[in-house]
Amino acid sequence: MAKILCVLYPDPVDGFPQTYARDDLPRIERYPDGQTLPTPKAIDFRPGDLLGSVSGELGLRKFLESKGHKLVVTSDKDGPNSEFERELVDADVVISQPFWPGYLTAERIAKAKNLKLAITAGIGSDHVDLEAASAHDITVAEVTFSNSISVAEHVVMMVLGLVRNYIPSHDWVKQGGWNIADCAVREYDVEGMHFGAVAAGRIGLAVLRRLKPFDMKLHYTQRHRLPDATEKELNLIWHTRVEDMLPLCDVVSLHVPLYPETEGMFDDKLLSTMKRGAYLINTARGRLADRDAIVRALESGRLAGYAGDVWFPQPAPADHPWRTMPHEGMTPHISGTSLSAQARYAAGTREILENWLEGSAIRDEYLIVDGGKLAGTGAKSYGVGDATHGIAAH
Ligand code: NDP
Repeated sequence: MAKILCVLYPDPVDGFPQTYARDDLPRIERYPDGQTLPTPKAIDFRPGDLLGSVSGELGLRKFLESKGHKLVVTSDKDGPNSEFERELVDADVVISQPFWPGYLTAERIAKAKNLKLAITAGIGSDHVDLEAASAHDITVAEVTFSNSISVAEHVVMMVLGLVRNYIPSHDWVKQGGWNIADCAVREYDVEGMHFGAVAAGRIGLAVLRRLKPFDMKLHYTQRHRLPDATEKELNLIWHTRVEDMLPLCDVVSLHVPLYPETEGMFDDKLLSTMKRGAYLINTARGRLADRDAIVRALESGRLAGYAGDVWFPQPAPADHPWRTMPHEGMTPHISGTSLSAQARYAAGTREILENWLEGSAIRDEYLIVDGGKLAGTGAKSYGVGDATHGIAAH
């Protein structure tokens, strides 16, 4: 019998939904690179239902309990007296989502004597101290590609939202106004603007593809160049260094994983190289940017807008300056947890659990740490070490 400890975000304030806005989800066969969608033996949930909150339980209870395993689900995750920390002591498996991360610090890992598997229901395992997980031979796995397109769509929304001044214009309507000049004074077209992706992996490339029809000029930087055919198809301009790309771009979007080399990369110095009035989007990880440097850049006009859904820590405290800085288009961490994405990563979580419980191999593309070292996607995406060390600011 295994104990599976699952950290999920709280239910909606009005209670767990009984009905939904839509009756079905479109059927998607494969991800853009040909990878198949999750292939669990079965699922016990209706795709389109809320699965990522506590009562949704990622649709796992029936499956796990029918096999004699114990499932504990909580949203109480921070601090030494949290249910997560108390239940962790004898848990075999931890499941957590980046939106409401159950931070797995070295200290917590040391206390979790039975822990063998940490699953990220979604993508991005920087909330786990990957070094400590390697040292304790804990397998870390995530549901690669499950929400990459969801995030890419959110980015496109934020690019258009910032440049076209959507949120402040909407606010005038809510206030009963008809203030055309107030809205238009910061409203531009994206057509012809230069867009730069900091990394063009699964999400970055999907964003570039989606922005192409807007007739933006597309740039990217990452260590490995994309195939020639992809560069030609999208008319991409590659830069070896982010410093070379930034001064040319009107809109920049971050799609690089968080690890020591990338932590805090958008600091005062790098921001000062951007065009005056550039827009910055960050749906990758909050700590890629220096929190206060972003505020300063907005106040000085270096940045005309900043939008994103990733913060540090999560949930962000009520006085986090990104809630009140000028020209922000922030959301809570939601881009990768649309109901569409939830159906995929819940199925992927079940697939990983099925494999692990029956002792069969977890897909290589889902692995981040295995056998005491970075493995699979982890070996490709992360550098050695871990930027956050799974730290929660208690
Ligand atoms: P991928 O692994 O597909 O792509 C990451 C890319 O980053 C790679 O192409 C890699 O290319 C590049 N890269 C790595 N290090 C550097 C570096 N130092 N400088 C420049 N480029 C670098 O990841 P995804 O696109 O799937 O996801 C990206 C990130 O988005 C995740 O790590 C996660 O943090 C975040 N995310 C956020 C979600 C949300 O809900 N907001 C949901 C899902 C993911 P190369 O090796 O050639 O440099």
